[in-house]
Amino acid sequence: MQITIDKTRIEILQGDITKQDTQAIVNAANSSLLGGGGVDGAIHRTGGPEILEHCKKIRKEYGTLPPGNAVITPAGNLTAEFVIHTVGPIWREGKNHEAEVLKNCYKNSLSLAQREMIRSLSFPSISTGAYGYPIDKASKIAISTVIEYVKKHSFFDEIRFVLFSQYDLAVYEETMNNLI
Ligand code: ADP
Repeated sequence: MQITIDKTRIEILQGDITKQDTQAIVNAANSSLLGGGGVDGAIHRTGGPEILEHCKKIRKEYGTLPPGNAVITPAGNLTAEFVIHTVGPIWREGKNHEAEVLKNCYKNSLSLAQREMIRSLSFPSISTGAYGYPIDKASKIAISTVIEYVKKHSFFDEIRFVLFSQYDLAVYEETMNNLI
């Protein structure tokens, strides 16, 4: 499904984030920036070693990436030009500011993209895999944060939410329907 806010198309689709042709894709990385499983593993596997080389440089210069923050690297062999790496919160029953941190992931990824003049961006469902964030709650934060940002800054052409499973897609679609 898709909606348009101002000039920005917001799309929810089922697919593989590594295959998206938006100018940048977002990686649900971990603080080490040295790669991991899930979407992180898929991005490094498909994008090749160039991404990890840049992550290592950032890590050397700035240390580990705190949850909620975002950094950018080239995208190696991917169709996208750039990867924005952000670290989601690990779900701890909602008692550890997880909602605020997850919101920061989306906000900081969007503002970093805008700073770099990136006009189209694909997000995976940050934190809802290995990090255990319940997807009904996470999808509300993901979609409402993007809508809020897009209403405030008329900049992006397209923002995609790329869901791996049909179930995740259905949850995001229901959330979007409830928010608009
Ligand atoms: P986190 O550690 O932030 O929870 P994961 O990578 O474990 O991140 O999972 C985040 C979401 O990404 C999950 O819903 C998972 O199914 C999904 N995912 C895994 N591989 C891909 C892929 N290639 N494209 C899009 N989404 C993916």
